Amino acid sequence: MYSLKYLVFSVIFLGIANWGATYYFLVHLFKPRQKLVSVKDKEMLAKLKRKTGLDFSIKLMEIDKMIGFMISSPPFLPVMVFSNKLFNAFNNNEREWVLLHEAAHYFLWHSLKFALSQLIILIIGLLLINKFIGNNWILPVSLIGLILGVIYVQIAKIFEYEADNYAATHMDNPKGMITGNIKMRKANTGILANPLMKKLFIIAVPYEERIKLAERQLNGLKMHDG
Ligand SMILES: [Zn+2]
Repeated sequence: MYSLKYLVFSVIFLGIANWGATYYFLVHLFKPRQKLVSVKDKEMLAKLKRKTGLDFSIKLMEIDKMIGFMISSPPFLPVMVFSNKLFNAFNNNEREWVLLHEAAHYFLWHSLKFALSQLIILIIGLLLINKFIGNNWILPVSLIGLILGVIYVQIAKIFEYEADNYAATHMDNPKGMITGNIKMRKANTGILANPLMKKLFIIAVPYEERIKLAERQLNGLKMHDG
């Protein structure tokens, strides 16, 4: 029966670490009548290639939330997925932000870094819960799963900042990052819009922080002009 505590810990920890990708991407991917549609906008793809040096493949999916994912990592071909809802609502400047953000995840090897961070924390957790023997393990083991899950989210946020920072500094017009985030904030409501929940369980950089990054970039650009 001791192996149950390892299972409980792993499910809590991996659940907190990956609920977004699982719930919004995997679950929707296998929904009946779901289809991935390729974006064929040649001008947009050429611009992305000019900035990143890479040929990205962009797919759209039916998800009732404004959201995007980089689903690949080197050495595999780069593929990013966006919800129809996001792509249809965004203008070209706003699309440039999400494209550069997901692109940065790819060439900064973030998928691998996310996976490695999870693996290291998972091993630490398994070693920690090893100490709990007897029948009173459920509360401490669940708590350790929860705490390490929240710690992972904070580490993953660092990579998210990195991606948004790359996007902000490489956009033709960083205003798109401001208006895009305002649109997302308006559309993506629910329990996880609560600031504390967001801080603890959401890997993405908060809308307000992203807007600040873009504003800083815009102010910098103005100074160079003047
Ligand atoms: Zn991201």
